[in-house]
Amino acid sequence: MAIAGVRWNQDIMKACAFDAVRAGATVPPALPDSDAEIDAHIRATASTIWHVCGTCKMGRDSMAVVDAELRVHGLTGLRVADASVMPQVVSGNTNAAVIRIAEKASDMIRRRPPLPTDACCASLISLPQGAVPTR
Ligand SMILES: Cc1cc2nc3c(=O)[nH]c(=O)nc-3n(C[C@H](O)[C@H](O)[C@H](O)COP(=O)(O)OP(=O)(O)OC[C@H]3O[C@@H](n4cnc5c(N)ncnc54)[C@H](O)[C@@H]3O)c2cc1C
Repeated sequence: MAIAGVRWNQDIMKACAFDAVRAGATVPPALPDSDAEIDAHIRATASTIWHVCGTCKMGRDSMAVVDAELRVHGLTGLRVADASVMPQVVSGNTNAAVIRIAEKASDMIRRRPPLPTDACCASLISLPQGAVPTR
């Protein structure tokens, strides 16, 4: 998939729309051609950037590590409450989502009921996609 992604990016940059502004490849200086070259380049340069997550899948299937209340399958008294339980990387930065996961975990451990859905939340939920609420 990563090799396909690199090729896709190369194709985008070869588009005529970029002819006037394209200066040539910089990293790596020469565009890799073969799958093996692209693979080597990815292995040498790829990183996770700063939003690592999703190493402890939540769910019930054989790959899942925690259940819906963040309890580790097969163990008692252990929960995971951090970015690792995110099923997918969130579309924005991760820190606020991690704090929310931690707050929810705290509520579950203390057996506090979910917060009521107030009028503001209800109006947000019922808004059409992309609409901005007015108060
Ligand atoms: C350089 C950088 C910049 C970032 N900038 C942003 C940003 O601007 N906005 C944003 O939303 N997100 C940002 N992030 C991402 C955000 O910081 C993380 O998503 C978030 O901190 C993840 O929280 P976490 O609790 O899952 O993990 P962490 O915050 O990494 O907490 C894990 C904790 O576990 C401890 N630990 C590890 N192993 C053990 C062990 N064996 N025993 C005991 N303790 C252990 C570690 O010391 C650490 O305190 C950034 C990340 C980085 C690295």
